[in-house]
Amino acid sequence: MQEDLCVAGATRSQEDLGVAGLDWAGLAARVRGCVACEVLAGARTQTVFGVGDVRGPWLFVGEAPGADEDRLGEPFVGRAGKLLDSMLAALGLKRGEGVYIANILKCRPPQNRDPLPAEAAACRGFLDRQIALVQPRVIVALGRVAAQNLLSSEIPIGKMRGQRFVYQGVPVVVTYHPAYLLRSPQEKAKAWADLKLARQVFQAG
Ligand code: URA
Repeated sequence: MQEDLCVAGATRSQEDLGVAGLDWAGLAARVRGCVACEVLAGARTQTVFGVGDVRGPWLFVGEAPGADEDRLGEPFVGRAGKLLDSMLAALGLKRGEGVYIANILKCRPPQNRDPLPAEAAACRGFLDRQIALVQPRVIVALGRVAAQNLLSSEIPIGKMRGQRFVYQGVPVVVTYHPAYLLRSPQEKAKAWADLKLARQVFQAG
């Protein structure tokens, strides 16, 4: 029987996953065929790889697909996705034009629960390969789960905001998740401040 790598909890790098050096098509095929996390692989309709301009230079990273994304196979296509599109528009950006969008997890967690640390660890090499291929000038981490996983940090999101982090040599700015902003619209001004910081970091890079 195959070992459940999610239960093992080990971070799987690009090398562990055999994706270092793969091009977009090869990487997408590996993600499609991944069954490392038994629970996620068993529950998904399909994997949700990523979408947009494969040359960046902006990369937005969310948490994991939800029900709409699982059904359609594209990140951020539900209500939160509409708000993300508005956030992009506020920066003069458009999905697919200079922007790539990916998630920490490529499979939907059941009942939209938070990704388990072991699931994020098992999926890490896929995101790392996407980052290596996009070579973004800036990464915007959307929400606590994305930011804490990407940066391997337990700092609360409120304290991560307003700072410039670095991951794989790329500057990272943290903002609230669009789904959170839908529930807490009074926080949108802070999200706009974060996006302006991201633009500054982008322009300086
Ligand atoms: N939330 C996320 O974090 N990612 C998606 O793709 C959709 C909703």
